[in-house]
Amino acid sequence: MAQRNTWQRERVRSALSDAPGFVSAQDLHAALRDENTGIGLATVYRALATLAASGEADQLQSPEGEAIYRACASTGHHHHLICRVCGKAVEIEATEVETWAKRTAAAHGFTDAEHVVDIFGTCAECTARIAQGDDRPEARAD
Ligand SMILES: [Zn+2]
Ligand SMILES: [Zn+2]
Ligand SMILES: [Zn+2]
Repeated sequence: MAQRNTWQRERVRSALSDAPGFVSAQDLHAALRDENTGIGLATVYRALATLAASGEADQLQSPEGEAIYRACASTGHHHHLICRVCGKAVEIEATEVETWAKRTAAAHGFTDAEHVVDIFGTCAECTARIAQGDDRPEARAD
């Protein structure tokens, strides 16, 4: 990759760290555009793919099929609880899932098994806000 693109990747990396939870390339691009960085959407996609490939960002598929990203606190294997309204994410341990996945793979003769398990739902804050009749996520309300 051309050296001149490094600052753009760094800028995308810091925008990702500033995000409170999982965000799409479009979300990040909109945030960077607000800051007049001049970074294009294609560059954001490339930077995110690079960060995900190097393990600096987690990449997930939302239930809607959109690729979403987060700069994760933990580098090891872990799972997430994700609010589908505001995107807030909590990293969770899933000991029972690890046991189940290992046992199920072994029962079918699979070795080298990996799994991706993330829970999407509505967080407590969003649930309370929606109950009060305001269904706009706080972070995106304008
Ligand atoms: Zn994570
Ligand atoms: Zn929420
Ligand atoms: Zn696991």
